[in-house]
Amino acid sequence: MVRTGTTAGHIGETRDVETIQISGGRVIDPSQGIDRISDVVLGRGRVLAIGEGYEEADVVVDARGMIVCPGLIDVHVHLREPGNEEDETIATGARAALAGGCTSVACMPNTRPSIDSQGAAEFVVLQAQRARQANVYPVGAVSKGREGHELAELGALVAGGAVAFTDDGAPVASASLMRRALQYAKMFDRCIMQHCQVMELTLGGVMNEGFESMKLGLGGMPGAAEDIMVARDIRLAEITGGRLHIQHISTERAVELVAEGKRRGVDVTAEACPHHFTLTDERLRTFDSNYKMNPPLRTRADVDAVIGGLRDGTIDLLATDHAPHSREKKMRELDQAPFGIVGLETLIPIIALALIEPGHLTWPEVIRKLTVEPARLLGLPKGTLRPGADADVTIIDPDSPWTVDPAAFHSKSRNTPYGGWPVRARAHTAIVAGEIRYTLGGKAHESGATPAP
Ligand SMILES: [Zn+2]
Ligand SMILES: [Zn+2]
Repeated sequence: MVRTGTTAGHIGETRDVETIQISGGRVIDPSQGIDRISDVVLGRGRVLAIGEGYEEADVVVDARGMIVCPGLIDVHVHLREPGNEEDETIATGARAALAGGCTSVACMPNTRPSIDSQGAAEFVVLQAQRARQANVYPVGAVSKGREGHELAELGALVAGGAVAFTDDGAPVASASLMRRALQYAKMFDRCIMQHCQVMELTLGGVMNEGFESMKLGLGGMPGAAEDIMVARDIRLAEITGGRLHIQHISTERAVELVAEGKRRGVDVTAEACPHHFTLTDERLRTFDSNYKMNPPLRTRADVDAVIGGLRDGTIDLLATDHAPHSREKKMRELDQAPFGIVGLETLIPIIALALIEPGHLTWPEVIRKLTVEPARLLGLPKGTLRPGADADVTIIDPDSPWTVDPAAFHSKSRNTPYGGWPVRARAHTAIVAGEIRYTLGGKAHESGATPAP
């Protein structure tokens, strides 16, 4: 393996003049229809070129046997700062993002206080700049204090850096507030991301309502609670011409509704999270709170419908809904434990296991849902390796068996249902703005690909 240069190991030093050649990988860039073995050359924080024949790079990263793609973008994470720094901070969450292969994340506003003002959005941006890990984009609250009554000052939030709006953690329950939010956000060409749930139907719920919840005697959250809100909001998007994004879609009917909305020309997109296409409500038989999430794990038919929606394009994006909670909180009784699981550091392996290995999606299709589509949703000039684009690059090792070990997570929290799962793919290297900020197992330039046998 060829290596030149001596500076790449010093993470954090200024690299403005450095050029990096990522050599011999399978370059997949859906924005340009590229899928071929090639080199990617970066310099001065930008993509310089895709192609062979660059010999003067300061640093050469051997990517033989690896996938090289635009930096992955996760549009749905919870970073818990300010207010719950014991669960996660912007710095630790942004580090976990890199370790999971995401060079950009959009964080939800359900912090304490919530991200409902220009200052709050600016705080997130500033903390992320200080951390110098993944790019972090704040998603502003739809309503003041996320209380669902009064519209937040969306224009001020945009000025503070907000890339979208949501009251996630809870839905915008009021139809009239949702209607106005869609109208206003349209003026800034931003989308409203909705946690679709009719709260009156899920009060006291712990898991999906159905055969399993009845058998276990646990409070149920009916799929209809999601379906009804999805139907309502698609109609509101239709009459306002606003942009609606359905978060963490989990039911068969909701997938059908989005497909139907798209056929009618409504500006609606949807995301799916790995847990909703890998796990069913039968897992709750263990009473393990790492199977407690909101929306809850559903039935096999729902899982199959989500996979179907990912296959046929009804579901545009993949996202984690990374929801860190300390061990202490998740150890409570099932009905007391908070909803949610961490997801960043298992994103690639679980997608590979559940979507790629069974043949549901190809790597280019998966990468499209984690690059081009999220960049489009948030209006970011990212998700591409076109010359001149930001030098955000993810290198994926697609085929080296390993076992998910929550103790090794960079996230502050460990609440995952995937601990101990045997998997094959993982993030290997993450480059942000032309800086090698993460490499699996240590120093930036000393752990390139294992040479092909
Ligand atoms: Zn949610
Ligand atoms: Zn969420």
